[in-house]
Amino acid sequence: MGIDYYTCANCRDTFPDCISYFSCENCGQHFCSNKCGKRQVSEPPDDIDDDADWEETVTCIFCRTEAVTDDDMIDFLLKELNITYDQALERYKQAVIRGETDDGE
Ligand SMILES: [Zn+2]
Ligand SMILES: [Zn+2]
Repeated sequence: MGIDYYTCANCRDTFPDCISYFSCENCGQHFCSNKCGKRQVSEPPDDIDDDADWEETVTCIFCRTEAVTDDDMIDFLLKELNITYDQALERYKQAVIRGETDDGE
């Protein structure tokens, strides 16, 4: 039995699986805490007749689109800009040459 480490999908912190972290059943993301992933359990509808028919759903910031992973954001932006990853990389390189990035100021 070893300790596994996860990277929090929100704050990118690494944490061991022996702490009480939050693993979203809905989308499978791992968060360092319920607070960080903004764990939310769905409320039963007011007009519910039979509790047995209702199943609570646990959601996180990604399920509710309050945040996106970097990978998803990159995919989205590339599609929006209609360029490939390589083209974006090329633009980045050009920007670095022109000194337009935040690095090394
Ligand atoms: Zn976190
Ligand atoms: Zn989720």
